[in-house]
Amino acid sequence: MSTRPEPLYPLFSDLRSLSGIGPKLAALFPALNVHYPKDLLFTLPQSGIERRSVATVRDVATAEIICVEIEVMRHVPSRVKSRPYRVVVQDSELSFELVFFHARGDYLERILPVGARRIVSGKVEYFDNLVQIAHPDYILPVSEKETMKSFEPIYPLTAGVTQKTMQKAVRSALERVPDLPEWIDKAQKSQAEWPDWKNALALAHDPNSWSDLGTENRARQRLAYDEFFAHQMTLSLARLNLRRAKGHVNQGNNALRSKILEGLSFKPTGAQMRSVQDIEADMAAPHRMNRLLQGDVGSGKTLVAFLALLIAVESGGQGVLMAPTEILARQHMESLDALAVAAGVRLELLTGRDTGATRRVKLEALASGQVDILLGTHAVFQKDVEFADLRLAVVDEQHRFGVRQRLELGRKGGAVDVLVMTATPIPRSLALSHYGDMDVSILDEKPAGRKPITTAIVPSERLEHVIENLQKAVQDGRQAYWVCPLVEESEVLDYTSAEDRFKSLRAVLEEGVVELVHGQMPPAEKDAAMAKFERGECKVLVATTVIEVGVNVPNATIMIIERAEIFGLAQLHQLRGRVGRGEAASTCLLLYQAPLSKSGQRRLEIMRETEDGFKIAETDLEMRGAGDLIGTAQSGLPLFRIANVETMASLMAKAQSDARALLTRDPELTTERGRAVRTLLWLMEQEKAIRLISVG
Ligand code: ADP
Ligand code: MG
Repeated sequence: MSTRPEPLYPLFSDLRSLSGIGPKLAALFPALNVHYPKDLLFTLPQSGIERRSVATVRDVATAEIICVEIEVMRHVPSRVKSRPYRVVVQDSELSFELVFFHARGDYLERILPVGARRIVSGKVEYFDNLVQIAHPDYILPVSEKETMKSFEPIYPLTAGVTQKTMQKAVRSALERVPDLPEWIDKAQKSQAEWPDWKNALALAHDPNSWSDLGTENRARQRLAYDEFFAHQMTLSLARLNLRRAKGHVNQGNNALRSKILEGLSFKPTGAQMRSVQDIEADMAAPHRMNRLLQGDVGSGKTLVAFLALLIAVESGGQGVLMAPTEILARQHMESLDALAVAAGVRLELLTGRDTGATRRVKLEALASGQVDILLGTHAVFQKDVEFADLRLAVVDEQHRFGVRQRLELGRKGGAVDVLVMTATPIPRSLALSHYGDMDVSILDEKPAGRKPITTAIVPSERLEHVIENLQKAVQDGRQAYWVCPLVEESEVLDYTSAEDRFKSLRAVLEEGVVELVHGQMPPAEKDAAMAKFERGECKVLVATTVIEVGVNVPNATIMIIERAEIFGLAQLHQLRGRVGRGEAASTCLLLYQAPLSKSGQRRLEIMRETEDGFKIAETDLEMRGAGDLIGTAQSGLPLFRIANVETMASLMAKAQSDARALLTRDPELTTERGRAVRTLLWLMEQEKAIRLISVG
């Protein structure tokens, strides 16, 4: 099925084919993200109007919307333009007025002839203690009373599209909904008591009460599930495709790993060992590994990565570890060097700074297999970088690379196993929607002996006091990071603020005690400053957010963040994670400039309350919404019209396991249900996924 199934044609036709929509209106709908009739089906009412049926308007509260039977008594046309046209009517107990501004009398006389009985509906208001209804929503003959709904859906609108137009367009779209074969597992559907797709649409657009508009409503649940399921089918198909691609069987013999595990000064956490086992099993399997290693800052991802790289070497091949920044690549080199020596493997570092002859020599060593493990930045994936036998690519802190680069990497690696590491705790729901194509290992255990970090929120007026305390701490031999803010995302200003702080701190602290690192510095200077800090020669490192990810100096126990209120939660968490890595207790000071915005205050408070990266990420998600958390542009997050990623996490999880289970049984989607799922994918415009089936 490489073209859209015929039953879907009417749902993908021109909007103008719907009743009541001409060219002018059709041009307005895209503002609502409505391009085809099917988009209208998935645009559910966001609110409702309840019309209480009453015998009389007596004692009805002001602003209540009611529906009442009346007799028309007399018309009182307006004598001056600014005054309304009034129609006096009588219900079972009370006489009141219907009021019309800028009215056409002949029209009103026709629909409200004196002596006739009518059903009117609208909002009750009091004017000089008299009841009136201005511009009733409905005026109907008594015989049509049943056609008026006691609960009316209210749709999202855009300029030029009225509620009535919208309702009419949706009704017209609903009329052409075909019966489609069921794509949801029968047992799942009956257990959840979900309606059929067609019926679900009808119900969702015809709410009878407020609770029908809630997320617990069965019709809405089903439609939300459809969206998640289609998305998870796409991710699962991508995953299946990757797994189908032939990979090496990388069977380690433990020879190298056992050497370094014996020599470690600490015991790996259970989570670290479990993750290594996951990786080992993946690498030994004949398909390609595509695994995400998620672990909060300081959870010890580097060791896991290194053990994985050793598996590649044990099985006779090479491995590569890519870091997002030069500093991190160098740091990996330094921290892994001793381990590599212990294991007897050859490490090499390749970054953008290697040029000319140095670079050539390194590339030759790599291509001839004299290098076992290559560390580096993006430079390791340049065209002319050739490996003798690459088996595993590890991407560290992948958050910075984005989803698209990950796909790119998969393509480049050929049959290479891929391990992606992220330090950004991602709420489960988001992890599912972003990494649903990957298998996930989580480092949810902190290495033993970590001391909690004391976090304080400090107004910038207390800066002098902070500096005094810093002086004392430095005299006691402690080390501190001082992070300066990114000012308006301008690198120049960014640089200036760090430079200024560097100068002012240098003036009060002892000579040679303060160093500066920022993105604009010549690389050699940057390295020198970092190295001095790592060796403990310099005590205070003034930095921009270049130290945000990965930097590991266990002796540093103080983190000071200036203008903390303008940082995002994820960033603050990353920065704070630079301390609390050693034996001594650590402190984090969040300096802010008053006045704090509500959200700024909330962010700082949650930082003070918890160190749990997942909790912080959940709060972040709540405060910002899913799109923002990863950056909408690069998030690749699909537009869910009905489903809510934030509140329906368990539904998403269900959709993922269902999608994977279906593909296990029916990888080509050829069974009856499989074919129904194809239709769903077309309906949800996930036809890219369908292409994966035909390619695979
Ligand atoms: P991250 O997950 O943030 O990349 P790292 O891999 O940099 O964390 O590890 C942080 C520090 O913890 C390093 O100094 C590392 O040697 C140390 N470490 C790793 N695993 C353990 C462990 N199981 N017990 C104690 N220390 C550990
Ligand atoms: Mg790390």
